[in-house]
Amino acid sequence: MAEEPQETKPGFQNPVAGFGVTFKAMFKKRLTEQYPEQKKTTAPRFHGRHQLNRHPDGLEKCVGCELCAWACPADAIYVEGADNTDEERYSPGERYGRVYQINYARCILCGLCIEACPTRALTMTNDFELADSSRANLIYTKEQLLAGLEEGMVDSPHALYPGTDEQDYYRGLVTEAAPGTERQTAVSRGETPADEGVDA
Ligand code: SF4
Ligand code: SF4
Repeated sequence: MAEEPQETKPGFQNPVAGFGVTFKAMFKKRLTEQYPEQKKTTAPRFHGRHQLNRHPDGLEKCVGCELCAWACPADAIYVEGADNTDEERYSPGERYGRVYQINYARCILCGLCIEACPTRALTMTNDFELADSSRANLIYTKEQLLAGLEEGMVDSPHALYPGTDEQDYYRGLVTEAAPGTERQTAVSRGETPADEGVDA
C-alpha cells in the first residue's frame, strides 16, 4: 500500500510560525539572573569557600594533622604542621597548622575534606565568588582562610586559658579569652617583639 503524503504548511507560513515561538517566549517568566548586580542567596549548606575556625578564645582549631589533604580527591590541599611552644601557641594541643593552602584551581568543592577533619577546624562558607584570572591568586593561604576575630577572642599565638588543657577546649569549657590575654610574638614567622600588634 502506498504511503500517504505528509501534510506540509505552505512555505510562507514557516517564518510566521517561528516568530510565534518567539512571541510566546516574550510573556514567559525570565530566568536570567542579574549577577553580579543582584546576588542570589545560596542554600544554607551550600559548599563555598573554606574557613579555618578558631576556638572561642581565638586559638586555632587546626592541629596540622593533614587528614583533610589525604581525603581530598583533587589533591587541592597542602598542610605543614608544627609544634606549639608555651612562648608561641597557636592551638590548644601539641601541634598546629603552620602552613595551610587550598588550590581553588583544583578544588571541586565536594566537601570530603571537611568530613575528614577531626576537630571541625575546616568548614565551608556560602562564599562562591572564587573566580580569578590568575592561577597564583587561586591558591588561598592560611591567612586568607583563617576565620576573623569575634568578640572575646585574641589573635593567635597566645597562651592557653589558665587552668585548662586541650580537652577542656573540646568540652566547651573555654568560652572566651582570659582577661589580660595578650598575643605572643610569632617568632617562627619572622616577627620580633618590636612587631607586636602588627599582623604578619
Ligand atoms: S572540597 Fe573536595 S576538592 Fe575541595 S579541597 Fe575539599 S576535598 Fe578537596
Ligand atoms: S583542617 Fe582539620 S583535617 Fe586539616 S590539618 Fe587541620 S585539623 Fe587536620
